[in-house]
Amino acid sequence: MSDIAGPAAAAFSSLDAAQIQFLQSLPKAELHAHLNGSIPISVLQELAAERASSSSSSSGSSSSESISDELVLSGIQKLLKGVTLDKIDDFFTLFPAIYALTSTPDALRRATRAVLRTFLDVSDPSLNPNPYPQCSYLELRTTPRQNTHMDREIYLRCVLEEVETYPPSRAGLIVSIDRKMGEETVKEILHLAMKLKKEGRRVVGLDLCGDPTAGDMGVLEPYFLEAKKAGLGVTLHIAETTQNTPEETLKLLSYNPDRLGHATFLNEETISIVLQKKMCIEICLSSNLLCKTVPTLESHHIHQYLKAGHPIAISSDDILPFRTSLLAEYALLLAKPPYGLGLTEDQVRTVAEMSLKARFGSSE
Ligand code: 5GP
Repeated sequence: MSDIAGPAAAAFSSLDAAQIQFLQSLPKAELHAHLNGSIPISVLQELAAERASSSSSSSGSSSSESISDELVLSGIQKLLKGVTLDKIDDFFTLFPAIYALTSTPDALRRATRAVLRTFLDVSDPSLNPNPYPQCSYLELRTTPRQNTHMDREIYLRCVLEEVETYPPSRAGLIVSIDRKMGEETVKEILHLAMKLKKEGRRVVGLDLCGDPTAGDMGVLEPYFLEAKKAGLGVTLHIAETTQNTPEETLKLLSYNPDRLGHATFLNEETISIVLQKKMCIEICLSSNLLCKTVPTLESHHIHQYLKAGHPIAISSDDILPFRTSLLAEYALLLAKPPYGLGLTEDQVRTVAEMSLKARFGSSE
């Protein structure tokens, strides 16, 4: 576990061997992992080296996502050193360097393969040194991008080809929509997700993500309702910052999502809707602490859901910048305070079972 750092690493280190074995062997689902935020740094370094050698031997690639080699390298250096975020907005500036490296079908496939292996395999000790996989089931999400090398459909087909190397009981794909996207793009992505699902491809849900302060949430409702009608699960990043107004949160809840990402700043009215409709909350402890949207574990909104026995899914969000793993996020539940929440093994088992129940994908 040398690749993890911060609060999750501290919680993990405080556990004894029997507790670690318990967490490793616990069946659990990772339901909130962003592809481009979960790529092993070693894979990004390889891609960066290839990019540097190909741009010096040719006149340079003309991808619409191309940024200078210096910016890519400084982005990688930042990720290697470990990023310190003053606020959540700083987090989104990390992605242009990553996107420059995953802008071709080949690079995207390689990155996806490595992410799937990190979560689901035990065979490659350089990516996953534990004898158990991080999770029994992974619902990976990604925002289809278009550039000079591929359109959004090719993007999704590349990712799906890799996801589908695992059986449906182990992996599914959630297609993400970025809050910044205009309605035409949202429509295009929704229709692609529906078309691929109809073809029998492994698309299990639709997500709304991206800069939480961007976009107009008043216009997206029909698209998410259409997604639900087509049998896709719907999950929405919601109330992530204090800038997200109660009106916006109410609007997003009116889309009738199945699951919610973060849901950090709910008020009494919105909490009662979430509880009544039993919407599963995807909880990303390290992400919230490191983005400073939640100051301490003691004050984390997970407590209210644990108290209410409300469905939650412990998730890792972006293991690359947050230098965590799903196992280490579970360590935050089991470790005694101040390192973790000090839950009992039975309580942790119940939480893991909740994650499996909240899957969009099938359990065939
Ligand atoms: P991708 O969708 O490109 O595979 O994964 C990275 C993208 O996921 C980011 O550019 C961002 O739009 C989104 N993302 C990753 N983590 C978070 C998060 O914690 N909150 C929100 N709102 N979006 C996120």
